[in-house]
Amino acid sequence: MKTAWEKYADNMSVVMEFSEGYKDYLSNSKTEREATKKAIELAEAKGFKDARKVDSLKEGDKVYFNNRDKGLCLFVVGKRPLVEGMNILGAHIDSPRLDLKQHPLYEDNGLALLDTHYYGGIKTYQWVARPMALHGVVVKKDGTKVEVKIGDDDNDPVIGISDLLIHLAKDQMKKTAGEVIEGEDLNVLVGSIPLKVADEEKKEFVKENILHILKEKYDIEEDDFVSAEIEVVPAERARDYGLDRSMVMGYGHDDRICAYTSLAAILDIEAPERTACCLLVDKEEVGSQGSTGMQSRFFENVLAELLEKCGQYSELTLRRTLSNSYMLSSDVSAGFDPNYASVNEPKNTAYLGKGIVFNKYTGARGKSGCNDANPEFIAKLRKVMDDNDVAWQTAELGKVNQGGGGTIAYILANLDMEVIDAGIAVQNMHAPSEVASKVDIYEAYRAYMAFIKDIA
Ligand code: MN
Ligand code: MN
Repeated sequence: MKTAWEKYADNMSVVMEFSEGYKDYLSNSKTEREATKKAIELAEAKGFKDARKVDSLKEGDKVYFNNRDKGLCLFVVGKRPLVEGMNILGAHIDSPRLDLKQHPLYEDNGLALLDTHYYGGIKTYQWVARPMALHGVVVKKDGTKVEVKIGDDDNDPVIGISDLLIHLAKDQMKKTAGEVIEGEDLNVLVGSIPLKVADEEKKEFVKENILHILKEKYDIEEDDFVSAEIEVVPAERARDYGLDRSMVMGYGHDDRICAYTSLAAILDIEAPERTACCLLVDKEEVGSQGSTGMQSRFFENVLAELLEKCGQYSELTLRRTLSNSYMLSSDVSAGFDPNYASVNEPKNTAYLGKGIVFNKYTGARGKSGCNDANPEFIAKLRKVMDDNDVAWQTAELGKVNQGGGGTIAYILANLDMEVIDAGIAVQNMHAPSEVASKVDIYEAYRAYMAFIKDIA
């Protein structure tokens, strides 16, 4: 099989170096908030300004709108009027994980545990017996926001969920994979030392000790969990994968891999013809609802703000800008896996190393819920990719009726613009450690660059 690696036989370092930046981003972006914060840091270093602090904008200006610290919309104002349309890159920055419940902490026979409710589609059995970390924010009654991050520094302790020993698993092993670990049983062990207290009324001394530690480290009380967003995520950093270091293994490729590459492209573009936009959104894994999901009016609202700051706002201009825009809605694809070859139809499958993936449609059971990209748009895209020597492939998510999935593509397409699903092939999608090819990561960046530069 011919792959994109052949293109870089004499210049592999450009591919390898690009992934170093990505590994750093991924290792430091384990929540949508961290992904947003890191994206703002990278954007500001490249001259982007907070749009809400800028009164007027002109061509070449670079700004971002922060959506509640959980999403980001970046623009590079083009030479052409906005009404002629934008070239938009979109990806999501939330990933499957375990969220702490609002009343999470309890003690059971000398052990302190945190109760969770999982977020997104997971095989629960993959999330036990492995090192985990706590990341998130606690907002206290007075509005102070405390950032929590335990488990990722080499000197930090880790936490985790236990699994049953094989010796006593006779009954458990008879269960189906979906029932082996029940969602309600994803309880995180966090402590076992009792606090030495004078107050014998308090019976749960181990729990008290954990509260004492949290009070010392973060100045938070048990009640503060009610207004907190704390995620239990895999504790390790992204690593090179494969003896040839051709791949990256890490938590949250879905979809920070497309987010990072889309972001990298908009950060590198200078004075495009059409306004370039990059949308990093939250809540994709749970249906894109809410103020930080793609279905929020946030995008239309900030576009109205952008038009106003460019001196071009009217309701009709806003509608025409959307209608004349093109979008690459990027999300991870299921990479062909020789261990599970039977779920794919080989001619229409994404392969690791063959470059960015375009999906005309996603969906399930007869494409239900998909955006089905128009061939007129796909033809335009093919030309731009080929003219820019980008390695690309097309794929479906598995065999017909094998399953399926959805993305944010249809939401933007519903705003009356041309949209196609694109992205990077991964193995182990939604597992705590996912795998992607470095050459695909680099080709995705090149594809995004070609798209915002040349699609018109
Ligand atoms: Mn995704
Ligand atoms: Mn996903």
